[in-house]
Amino acid sequence: MTTDSKLDVKTLEAEHVLQTYRRQPVVFERGAGARIFDDRGRSYLDFLSGIGVASLGHAHPGLAAALADQASTLIHTSNLYFHPLQGELAARLSDLTGLERAFFCNSGTEAVEACLKFARRYWYTSGDTQRTRFVAFTHSFHGRTMGSLSVTWDEHYRTPFQPLVPEVRFADASDPAAAASLIDETVAAVIIEPIQGEGGVRPLSPALASALSDACRRTGTLLIADEVQSGSGRTGTFTCSERVGLKPDLMALGKALGAGVPIGAAMVSGRVAAAVSAGDHGTTYGGNLLACRAALVFLDALEHGLLDQINRVSTHFFTRLRALQERHAGAILDVRGAGLIAGLDLSFDAQPVVASALERGLLVNRTATTVVRLLPPYIITERDVDEAVEILDQVIGN
Ligand code: PLP
Repeated sequence: MTTDSKLDVKTLEAEHVLQTYRRQPVVFERGAGARIFDDRGRSYLDFLSGIGVASLGHAHPGLAAALADQASTLIHTSNLYFHPLQGELAARLSDLTGLERAFFCNSGTEAVEACLKFARRYWYTSGDTQRTRFVAFTHSFHGRTMGSLSVTWDEHYRTPFQPLVPEVRFADASDPAAAASLIDETVAAVIIEPIQGEGGVRPLSPALASALSDACRRTGTLLIADEVQSGSGRTGTFTCSERVGLKPDLMALGKALGAGVPIGAAMVSGRVAAAVSAGDHGTTYGGNLLACRAALVFLDALEHGLLDQINRVSTHFFTRLRALQERHAGAILDVRGAGLIAGLDLSFDAQPVVASALERGLLVNRTATTVVRLLPPYIITERDVDEAVEILDQVIGN
């Protein structure tokens, strides 16, 4: 594509695409591994992977071949019929999460919606029809559809769309005792991200994990782990819940699971599954053959060495990021995260850093105003980490 066609892309979008996004001034046309190329052929090191999605990097040969094969065999049948891949994927996810059954959908927010609905359905089936409340947390982000938005904390996202689902209480994530005191026999479920990604890469504290687990056990309240961003291997274990000692009854998965092909999953325990009947929930596309095939290729890669690579590279990643913090102690106040999700909390707005990194060929993004977030593909190497950290060093030094 030429510069003129780049202008055309922007003009066409400006005229016809609903303006809900503030895009960076770049048009990407192709990718290879951890690199992505713009319409002038310039190469960028991708440390964002499409917000935690392109887990196998770009143009992964095994994924490309499997998708081409699937596309020339059968892509979609709807959920009116059986096909060979949904049960297989559900069984493998069940093994990996310890939750018996999967409901497939197309995005993270749909996985959260499904978890909220199945939690309500559990209490309705149990005859406890008044048990309808949800408890969520300060700095939470669970998606943009009405249910997910109702348990998302930031007023900026919520206010224009009120009224939302009623009876949601927000607990202070930094005060475990106060949070636990909000959980009683009127609460259907508590929803929590083991690492709050959009909220500024804030890991759940062990004290909060244990207070929540105790309160849920004591009151019978269901626990929903939103692992859309933190799950599917991102932190070096399949779920982040297992790292922090959470035993959820329901779990939302998305992003990295399809390695770029849209798929979400709501995983539910046996007792929740027993409360759900045919017709309670559904989706036209959810778990179609193309999406399931992508997720199966992703799980194969994860189980054949990629999880080990994440853990190995992560050690180097955080060593380099902590050294960067020491070099720029006034600018980088904190380095947070695990595995291959990291946030650099700055003493100023992170947007100029993100923009300068882009100019120098590195993709990262800003979250929670002051945080530079890094969500690289799982295939990155120590050398990629060195290159990214050197660019951040120059940018923050300026
Ligand atoms: N939950 C969490 C924790 C997320 O980080 C996100 C997206 O960033 C979502 C839910 C929503 O996912 P999606 O954008 O795929 O709907």
